[in-house]
Amino acid sequence: MKKTKYALVTGGSRGIGRETCIKIAEELGYAVLINYQSNQAAAEETLKAITDKGGKAELLQFDVNNAEGVNSKLNEWKDANPDALIEVIVNNAGITRDGLMMWMEEEDWQKVLNTTLNGFYNVTRNLIQDLLKNRYGRIINVASVSGMKGTPGQVNYSAAKAGLIGATKALAQEIAKRNITVNAVAPGFIETDMTQDLDQSQLKNLVPLNRFGKAEEVADLICFLASPKASYITGETININGGIYA
Ligand code: NAP
Repeated sequence: MKKTKYALVTGGSRGIGRETCIKIAEELGYAVLINYQSNQAAAEETLKAITDKGGKAELLQFDVNNAEGVNSKLNEWKDANPDALIEVIVNNAGITRDGLMMWMEEEDWQKVLNTTLNGFYNVTRNLIQDLLKNRYGRIINVASVSGMKGTPGQVNYSAAKAGLIGATKALAQEIAKRNITVNAVAPGFIETDMTQDLDQSQLKNLVPLNRFGKAEEVADLICFLASPKASYITGETININGGIYA
């Protein structure tokens, strides 16, 4: 029997993750597993946006930081859905806890690193053997311009995202022979809840395209990388930042 192909998007309730869920369902026809941490109402809006257009999706709550929680939720889901296969993983969940290094509390360091790096490990490690058996898959990691160039006031976040870019390059080489690609995207300023407290009118002057990006624009790039069209791109990090850094 042919398996139902799923894409799992961590942090799919809001922002870039939400738009990615919607586009992957609509443009690539995957059933979507919408992960979120706590904002169930927002996750349900993502779900509705997909099902209203005739797509298939379901919610899967877990905290990407919590290895036990990730494994139990994913294993339970796999047991309950033996005819399904998660073929696309978008490691998107991320947080910021900004502040200068000289005042940075250990908790802000740990939380940001754990969400990005342990989140990537916990989710990808659980699903990778299924991808290897499938001999096809797509992994897309949402990094940041901060991981490429470093951003003052974000030593924790820059370290986490640079680490994720390193992991992307290494894993890509490990699993390329099984026709699984691993890529990262590195967005600049994107209009989401994460950037809502930033002064856009000032900061847009730093951007050659003179505006913040939209979550849909990042989702388009992720969707391309998740598609068969991107079959010869792996280990790559693609900047999407309006020209602030290349
Ligand atoms: P956002 O609007 O703040 O949304 C964050 C999403 O991540 C939410 O769905 C949230 O779930 C989820 N999340 C956070 N911690 C989680 C955890 N421990 N476990 C599971 N889910 C978790 O952020 P965004 O701007 O869309 O950012 C998405 C990704 O893009 C992040 O990795 C971010 O670092 C990266 N990025 C963003 C920008 C930007 O300018 N916005 C730029 C570069 C990179 P709940 O709704 O349940 O809280």
